[in-house]
Amino acid sequence: MPNIQVLDPHVADLIAAGEVVERPASVAKELMENAIDAGASAITVEISHGGMTFLRVTDDGKGIPAGELKTAFLRHATSKLRTEYDLEAIGTLGFRGEALAAISAVSRVEVMTRTADAPLGASLALEGGVPGQVEEAGCPLGTTMVVRDLFYNTPARLKFMKKDAAEGAAVFAVVQRAALSHPEVSVKFIRDGKQELLTPGDGQLQSAVYSVLGRELALGFRPVKSSGEDMTVTGFVSMPACCRGSRSWQFFFVNGRQVKSPLMAAALEQAYQNQKMVGKFPGCVLHLELRLSAVDVNVHPAKTEVKFGQERQVFSAIYHAVLSALERDRSHPQVELKN
Ligand code: ADP
Ligand code: MG
Repeated sequence: MPNIQVLDPHVADLIAAGEVVERPASVAKELMENAIDAGASAITVEISHGGMTFLRVTDDGKGIPAGELKTAFLRHATSKLRTEYDLEAIGTLGFRGEALAAISAVSRVEVMTRTADAPLGASLALEGGVPGQVEEAGCPLGTTMVVRDLFYNTPARLKFMKKDAAEGAAVFAVVQRAALSHPEVSVKFIRDGKQELLTPGDGQLQSAVYSVLGRELALGFRPVKSSGEDMTVTGFVSMPACCRGSRSWQFFFVNGRQVKSPLMAAALEQAYQNQKMVGKFPGCVLHLELRLSAVDVNVHPAKTEVKFGQERQVFSAIYHAVLSALERDRSHPQVELKN
């Protein structure tokens, strides 16, 4: 037998799944992104045991046609991308066609879904990526995905999961970021039967910030609004006096996508130079909108890293937007509400 052989497709699928699905939080992120891409106005995320034994995402989006339900779970199957040219301007959160295949390869999935033109919905169960039969099901418009027993068939990964509380906290963080990324969507989070978050979905970022971060933090925020020819920066930043000991309350979004961006964080912090205490960090919820072709989102399987075509312009847009918000605040300090 030769030494070098192409892997069995089943093994290759498990390896690929590992890139997308690291832990329950990655499942929640992918399923919420699918719900947002489907135009949902309300999304509910429910978990038990930190999302390890049970994770359900329900949306009221456009649903999946019964005839395409099995296809949706195949690798590289997507309705969001057609040609290589589409990669240059991706307007949806998903585009790789990997998530459903990856999630179902390492868990037991049940889906129920109905489109607006279908009187009856459809359901499908998959175990370790192997689908059963598509069946008719009475269900509301939209999609419900239930993911059970994550990593039941990949013990190597299962071993590395943290305690339920830590995995649940990571899911919650993903849900919070999704709520901040799309204030027009009402987001609900239920952990072990207890509701922990409900955003109004009224389209106001301020309402989402209030629900997610709480009144106390929100009161220390000042609005940011600046639009140039190529870029718009909106959101909230903390007053220098309200800076904190960590960066954990810095939230950055690019065209509605939650991102990790050292560049955006550096621009934010530069604007506070000389205004904050050493070892303290500003908080923010900042949305950057720019031409789709000005940002490459196809950098990493988790899609949280992006590459900007014009890094200097992005830095400068964030820096100046934040600076002018801070200056406005100094010349017109808002009266703090007390009680
Ligand atoms: P991607 O999001 O990259 O297209 P996924 O594997 O996440 O890949 O999903 C595959 C396809 O299944 C999507 O392109 C979409 O057409 C469909 N789909 C998945 N989730 C939903 C949902 N919640 N509502 C409607 N369609 C969905
Ligand atoms: Mg997707």
